[in-house]
Amino acid sequence: MRLVLSTLLVLGTLSPLAAQDITVDISARALNVRSGVWGTKLGLVRAGQSFAARGQRSGWYRIDWRGREAWVSGSYVQRSQRRTVEISATGLRARTGPSISDTILAVVRRGQRYVRLDRRGSWVRIQLDHREAWVHGDYVRDDGSASTPVSTPAPAPVSTPAPAHAPVPNPAPAPAPVSTPAPAPAPVSGDLTGLDVALDTGHGVTGSGRFDPGSLNSRSGIREFDLNRRVGQRVQQLLEARGARVTLNTYPRGAVRRSLFQKGQVARGSDVFVSLHHNAFNASAQGSEVLVHNTRTNSSSQRLARLIQGRLVQRVFGGQSRYDRGVKRQALGVLTGAHSVTRTAVLVEGFFLDTREVTPTRATQWIEAEAEAIAEGVGSYWLTR
Ligand SMILES: [Zn+2]
Repeated sequence: MRLVLSTLLVLGTLSPLAAQDITVDISARALNVRSGVWGTKLGLVRAGQSFAARGQRSGWYRIDWRGREAWVSGSYVQRSQRRTVEISATGLRARTGPSISDTILAVVRRGQRYVRLDRRGSWVRIQLDHREAWVHGDYVRDDGSASTPVSTPAPAPVSTPAPAHAPVPNPAPAPAPVSTPAPAPAPVSGDLTGLDVALDTGHGVTGSGRFDPGSLNSRSGIREFDLNRRVGQRVQQLLEARGARVTLNTYPRGAVRRSLFQKGQVARGSDVFVSLHHNAFNASAQGSEVLVHNTRTNSSSQRLARLIQGRLVQRVFGGQSRYDRGVKRQALGVLTGAHSVTRTAVLVEGFFLDTREVTPTRATQWIEAEAEAIAEGVGSYWLTR
């Protein structure tokens, strides 16, 4: 009895973790982030994301999440020892790429810690929630050098009082639609010789070498990684049958590790890049959406996105507008990578795979409908360019 009590006491106390390099990797499909141990729900984190950890209590980890302190249950995370960096500037811009001309994703703040992915020259790539971002290395304490005092750097990273940690969208209620005029009727057949398409099937082996299966339907066991791949294979068949050249990039276990940016760069030499994904949220949300990089509003990417989105709603959801989640803008790492080498890139979230209706039979039907919609959208884009 005494033993049990003392164990409880120890567990109930916050044990600060060593300042550096204690991280947790989320292993649950979707895990609630709370304000304390069993505290108020603040949001969700997902499999494949990693966070710097500050302490541990009653089997929960205190993590740095979106610029604040938050807690996750230790039952759904794996403790890891990734390198972290601590932000040393008051407010520091985190960007989509390693240069000041890259888009600002968020402003990160002094004292926050992030998992460090790699370094290129003076820039450091960090994991910012579900995205990757670059910060200038002069304004972070990198590696174990937490003891190195960082002097106030010359060019101030952020001149104005920065907004609170910039909005990092939740996985599901995605940013508002950008505008979705009905897609013009366009040919669903026609020769596509000369068109070069790069397909990216989302998830699989990540930049850190882990295998990320994406989201999951817990009832049927269907994994996003497998769905993405099946859609990719079918899109490839449909486009090749019309004369296009298609590269299908998948990242199964054992594949070479690639960051999202690098996965986008496989678009080099291609006319069109399409990243294939399927959403999951609360097991009741449903619908299709297509994402374009937030810097590409009036662009070929936007046009391709509309062509695909219109057909998705038509083919998968019988044209019912309540399933039309629209074309959205988001600074996604894979699109940043693709746009570093090609003009036209979109990311398709075909449907939510975590709903009750997504049985293996229904999944097979929807995969076919989705693949046809994507192939037709890409074909129309090319023939009407
Ligand atoms: Zn995905």
